[in-house]
Amino acid sequence: MPAEEPEFDTGVALYERIRESLGWYPTADVDVLVVGGGIQGLALLNELTDRGYAAALLSNSPLGAGQSFDWPGTLSKGYLDPDPTVRESIEDEWLPFAEDERVPVEGGEWYVCSTDHPYQYLPDQWDEHGYEYDERGIDGLPEVYRDGSIFAKGSGEHVTAIDEYTIDREALVRALADGHEERIVVGDVTDATFTEASATDSAPALDGLTVETHQELTVEFDPDYVVAATGTGTHGFVDSLVGSGEFERAGGDAERVRESLSPVTYRNRLVLAVRGPAADLPAVSAYLPHRGMSVVARRHRYRDENYVTWYVTNESSLESVDPADATDDAKGILDPEKVEVGYNKLFDLAPSVKDRAANGADLEFYAYATLEQCVDDEVTAHHAAPLDGLANVGVALPSGAAGVWATVEETLGYVGDAVDPSGPVEEIPTGGEPPYGRLADDRPGARWLDWKALGVRYPRVQNRPDAVERN
Ligand SMILES: Cc1cc2nc3c(=O)[nH]c(=O)nc-3n(C[C@H](O)[C@H](O)[C@H](O)COP(=O)(O)OP(=O)(O)OC[C@H]3O[C@@H](n4cnc5c(N)ncnc54)[C@H](O)[C@@H]3O)c2cc1C
Repeated sequence: MPAEEPEFDTGVALYERIRESLGWYPTADVDVLVVGGGIQGLALLNELTDRGYAAALLSNSPLGAGQSFDWPGTLSKGYLDPDPTVRESIEDEWLPFAEDERVPVEGGEWYVCSTDHPYQYLPDQWDEHGYEYDERGIDGLPEVYRDGSIFAKGSGEHVTAIDEYTIDREALVRALADGHEERIVVGDVTDATFTEASATDSAPALDGLTVETHQELTVEFDPDYVVAATGTGTHGFVDSLVGSGEFERAGGDAERVRESLSPVTYRNRLVLAVRGPAADLPAVSAYLPHRGMSVVARRHRYRDENYVTWYVTNESSLESVDPADATDDAKGILDPEKVEVGYNKLFDLAPSVKDRAANGADLEFYAYATLEQCVDDEVTAHHAAPLDGLANVGVALPSGAAGVWATVEETLGYVGDAVDPSGPVEEIPTGGEPPYGRLADDRPGARWLDWKALGVRYPRVQNRPDAVERN
């Protein structure tokens, strides 16, 4: 019986180290290489493998570590912008998937709280498009908002319970990756080669990719087709391919390729998180369309107690981002002034949260900024299409989680037109044991602030001069 390969602490086998030092790089010959380890790339890998494709996935960050872990986890059905296809994608695809894969999904108390404008336009559309709702009137306003300014501006007071869900993002990413670990490589593309345009293809085709893994091993990919599910890193990824002299030498027109990404844009979004024991921070989620705000509550365990985290977003803090500045891992730019304005707005809406924090309740605050990809400036659109000017590369970009399944279907359509499945591969050289990212609010650098520290870090939160003096 052969002796087992001794391994270094990095998990890299000795033969792999030797092979690397000799420059004998292994090749992964696949039908389809998916680039991007967020929920979209993983869902695609799953489907491609199921349909018999020799498929692999390459990501340059731990799985989930982009928008997929910065998103509060809402499976938005589109209550504020009713669209039956979005509702059906949640009800007919996401919820059954979560049930089959045992991914926890939370419903609970969800409301639309709005003045007449824009509420007056919503119930008719909900009726027309099959949305469930229950109008409760002002008496149904959750206690946490009762002393606040929620209806102070504008006329009319509408409180309507809706049927909305959040999904456990960590469990989701693990469920999507389950069984595919050996097909996943985490690393960076360092080189790309192209074949020239031919009689059948009017544009050059991607021939091979060299990848340096995060374990310092090299692997060559020889894919028939590449799908970029690269989220906010899409412009960067496409540029890294077509911006090279190689592409030009193969007769490629980089501008033509870049132009085909024009529907895809990016926005910087501020997320204000608050966490505390469920007794102090109720697990109530709400869309407040007249204020351009939403509060998404997630239940979880923390310090052995039942805790809730609120993720508060505000449309007025959204900013568009130049694609050249978009980050691969969706990290955004945090503007302290916007954080101060945002928390003050939240405390106006829900003064009890501020009062409890100021009176010593165990409430903590954490603000982060993240990028999100958009398609045609819409939150429910998606972009699944081959790139123009690069024969065998396409993109798979949902602008909301609801769009993931439609994006999978459309991507399978254009990939199927180009490549036949040659049977799933069981493993990819250098693949296996992929690292998993952490939720934005759970990452090592995330600093949760108690009430006093919040005032020190963001002095204009409730104009707290005592807090400023502490600095
Ligand atoms: C704050 C926020 C709130 C949101 N709210 C909602 C909501 O309420 N409802 C809803 O449905 N959706 C919402 N979304 C959108 C949802 O989160 C995204 O649609 C979804 O997570 C996108 O997944 P993805 O896999 O396309 O992208 P990502 O999760 O960003 O994954 C992209 C992956 O590609 C990798 N990558 C990038 N460049 C490269 C490269 N060059 N080489 C290799 N790998 C690369 C990245 O490392 C990353 O792993 C929200 C998003 C955010 C940020």
